[in-house]
Amino acid sequence: MLKQKIYTIPINEAFDSDFACPFCHISEKLDKEEVEYTLGAAMMEPDFRIITNEKGFCKQHMPKLIGEAKALPLSLVMQSQSEHWNRRLAKYDSWEKKKPFRKSTLKETAKKCSDSVQGFLSSCAICEKINRTMDVFFDNTIYLWKTEPSFKEKFHKKQFCLEHFAKLVDSGIDNLGEKDFEEFYTKLYKSQMSLLDSLYEDISEFTKMFDHRNSGKKPTPKVQSALKRIIHIYSGFKQSD
Ligand SMILES: [Zn+2]
Ligand SMILES: [Zn+2]
Repeated sequence: MLKQKIYTIPINEAFDSDFACPFCHISEKLDKEEVEYTLGAAMMEPDFRIITNEKGFCKQHMPKLIGEAKALPLSLVMQSQSEHWNRRLAKYDSWEKKKPFRKSTLKETAKKCSDSVQGFLSSCAICEKINRTMDVFFDNTIYLWKTEPSFKEKFHKKQFCLEHFAKLVDSGIDNLGEKDFEEFYTKLYKSQMSLLDSLYEDISEFTKMFDHRNSGKKPTPKVQSALKRIIHIYSGFKQSD
């Protein structure tokens, strides 16, 4: 039995939709919810404030928080973060005061200061929360694959961006026995490779359209959309239509 919450409904919804990668669809929805939550309900949650103070927000999430147009909640979050970090960083000047007894050199103390700042800059409270939830989604998907034949059929008709393909492989390794994993991985790998091969063919056709010998020729819709589709599969970035 699964210990975590079962996300059967949103997983089935994502697999029933015609999105290119069902997990990109799920993660986009989670992203929107978490950004709203950060400047909404989370304002009343001291536990979440401790996490946002410690981890801050990445460059991808900061513009989304700004986009919520909630200047007061965002100011309060930033004020609290600034109070926390100003206090944390203040301890790196104690080197001067401890001069007669100091054990570490100034460079060692300065390195701790820069490590601390860089650790903060490379973390994001929202990314980390979404990643944890996504891990549960992947494990639940493998559980559905194993227990529901109709889902298994649906699963193998879908293709995934590279990031989510790799996450599925890892979740399969962790949650399936040898025999199930062989079936799961063989089918998933075959379908993923056929997607990558067809994207290569389409992007190659698309680049040929720039050749003057092809001027006047109209690309098929599949070739026309090749650049957008290959960017999504390789980077996870989805451009709007
Ligand atoms: Zn994806
Ligand atoms: Zn982030």
